Amino acid sequence: MEKKLKVGVLGATGMVGQNYLRLLANHPWFEVVYLAASPNSVGKKYADAVVGRWHMKENIPEQFKNIVVQDASLVDKAVGKCKLMFSAVEMDKQAILALELEYASKGFAVVSNNSAHRNTEDVPVMIPEINHDHLDIIPQQRKKYGWSKGLLVVKPNCSIQSYMIPLYALMKAGYVIDKMIVTTLQALSGAGYPGPAAIDLVDNVLPYISGEEEKSEVEPRKIFGKIKNGKIVPNDDLKISAHCNRVAVTDGHIACCSIQFAGKKPDTEEIIKIWRNFSALPQELKLPSAPVPVLIYRDEIDRPQPQKDRDAGNGQAITIGRLRKCNVFDYRFVGLHHNTVRGAAGGSILTAELLLAKALVK
Ligand code: NAP
Repeated sequence: MEKKLKVGVLGATGMVGQNYLRLLANHPWFEVVYLAASPNSVGKKYADAVVGRWHMKENIPEQFKNIVVQDASLVDKAVGKCKLMFSAVEMDKQAILALELEYASKGFAVVSNNSAHRNTEDVPVMIPEINHDHLDIIPQQRKKYGWSKGLLVVKPNCSIQSYMIPLYALMKAGYVIDKMIVTTLQALSGAGYPGPAAIDLVDNVLPYISGEEEKSEVEPRKIFGKIKNGKIVPNDDLKISAHCNRVAVTDGHIACCSIQFAGKKPDTEEIIKIWRNFSALPQELKLPSAPVPVLIYRDEIDRPQPQKDRDAGNGQAITIGRLRKCNVFDYRFVGLHHNTVRGAAGGSILTAELLLAKALVK
């Protein structure tokens, strides 16, 4: 890319915002020029705004240290400075709904980490390997809201990436999945900082994450849905029952899945072959963050594991293992992804790369 696209980060001082800056520091297509957060951080140099709360293993990238943090709610301040805005603010849901629409109305391509717009019927919930065609709704989105250049897309909840692409690969190969029971073991970083109290985590598992099971059951249907009459109509064929647990792992969400097919069923060798050969548009377009391969099937009986597998494909690949027959449904397997990379900032960056590759942002 000859000239990098100028981008900004709303909520740049938070956990997700810091992950954006870590992942965008040397990005070949994007240059971060605009950082915004709450009035508490406004007017401070970025390095001063995050004193005592920089949570990444890497140091603050040099190029961001002296950028003066702006007020995320003052949209006009950002106009003319950048074209794409990654959104990771923690605010009241109604305020996020309005703020993201306002940025899009002022001509920004908004790629959001927040859940606020996931149920908005013309806002795609993106996993680029699966529903890249949902970006075809952008012209209708622009027409409906009267935006000339702006657009709004979101990423899904971080609990589902471990199994969505494995399921999609089987669906794309012609197999219909009827139902799934999934039990997730979710890392602490998914709860933000500081997350649950240490005393609740040591020698313990928390069997409840607020709102997570509902999101895990609803969002896949929209991602597997189709555009009809200017809306994304969910695919209600797939029934999911989810149990979501918080475990004392730093990064890397595991999903233990049992699936049942409707109609014809592949054998285990074929499933593994489908997963190992799976490739999609982000890989074909050679997007900078697209992992190759996207699905890694491990033959070892004790994989995937968060410590060993979360960084596969720079945190963007999905690792699968333990495929075997299920005594109740047809098959069971274990999936794993890096929740703060593929499940959060990294997944949004891959979506932004796709927007650029499809010339939806210029
Ligand atoms: P966080 O660490 O609490 O950071 C929140 C960010 O929002 C900070 O930059 C904060 O600025 C800013 N902010 C707070 N109130 C604001 C206001 N009134 N106006 C403008 N900016 C404001 O939260 P997080 O964990 O990064 O999460 C950010 C969003 O991503 C949330 O919606 C969360 O649900 C979602 N999410 C998080 C994760 C995760 O792994 N943590 C995963 C998926 C989705 P100051 O620093 O100035 O206060």
